[in-house]
Amino acid sequence: MSYDREKQVAMEAAILAAKLCQQVRQDIPEAIEKQDKSPVTVADYGSQAIICKALKETFPNDPIVGEEDATELRKPEMADTLNKILGYVQNLIPDATADQVTDWIDRGNGSVSPRYWTLDPIDGTKGFLRQDQYAVALALIEDGDIKVGVLACPAMPVEGSEPGMLYIAVRGEGAQMMPLAGGELQPIHVVSPDDTENLRFVESVEAAHGDQSRQNAMAQAVGITAPSVRVDSQAKYGIVASGKAALYLRLPSPKYPDYRENIWDHAAGAIVVEEAGGKVTDMYGKPLNFADGQKMMNNRGVVVSNGILHEKIIAVLNS
Ligand code: AMP
Ligand code: MG
Repeated sequence: MSYDREKQVAMEAAILAAKLCQQVRQDIPEAIEKQDKSPVTVADYGSQAIICKALKETFPNDPIVGEEDATELRKPEMADTLNKILGYVQNLIPDATADQVTDWIDRGNGSVSPRYWTLDPIDGTKGFLRQDQYAVALALIEDGDIKVGVLACPAMPVEGSEPGMLYIAVRGEGAQMMPLAGGELQPIHVVSPDDTENLRFVESVEAAHGDQSRQNAMAQAVGITAPSVRVDSQAKYGIVASGKAALYLRLPSPKYPDYRENIWDHAAGAIVVEEAGGKVTDMYGKPLNFADGQKMMNNRGVVVSNGILHEKIIAVLNS
């Protein structure tokens, strides 16, 4: 079975959505508070609209499990916000209407199924608002196995060029990256153990999304002495996949011991790292479960490595 078409459509949609996000960011967006108190912006909604439209047109039967939905946007008091979103979408899709935009966003209300897509239209909204890293993250899952993943990271530094990197992987075909400004897809690989320069680890900027003191102690226990590099969003997976760090630790925050990870926060990044030769599990070494629901109820924490470090880090975590 070939995933060429899925790869192409996912890549084009993510590139278009990344353009919208960059346009919004240049205008210094405001945060809107969601019911769970987390921030969302017009770019989160615009990105979801663009990607869901592309998927709907090419794969009309595929459900999409996206982070956002348009319930709030349909309220009369949100008319100004919806209008702003529409303006950004129309810069890329000139004949779009407000009704289409809310309908496209609500395509993301699908359920986990034998074949489905999962989408985080802006992963790391807090990083996006801080002018730091963020990612547009989209993955295709079949029977619980991630088949295609794409991460567009518009703020990722690129040597000799303007920022913006795209990471993409198809199961069994390896992982690649390409500057968002254009160029060729290049194969990527996780860091090798003799590359001491890149033997560092990444973790969230947001202290409440992990356990930074334990993460530091665990990294040291497996021989990583450099201080962590703190990065928002699944851009961390791109950094590990392209050999710029050996490890990404996300241990449960002591403040939120019952937190469970969302599938859209990990699916795209996980296949990119796996296809680059790395390994992704929870903190007990269990595979992440993309088969049962939006939240990975039976996984705790996430550990991402270059593969070689994996057994070691799981062993110290559980000793
Ligand atoms: P990051 O930028 O890697 O910290 O990841 C951002 C994501 O963290 C958001 O999309 C949230 O879904 C997720 N998140 C929110 N609260 C928590 C928490 N207590 N523990 C772990 N992740 C969280
Ligand atoms: Mg997210």
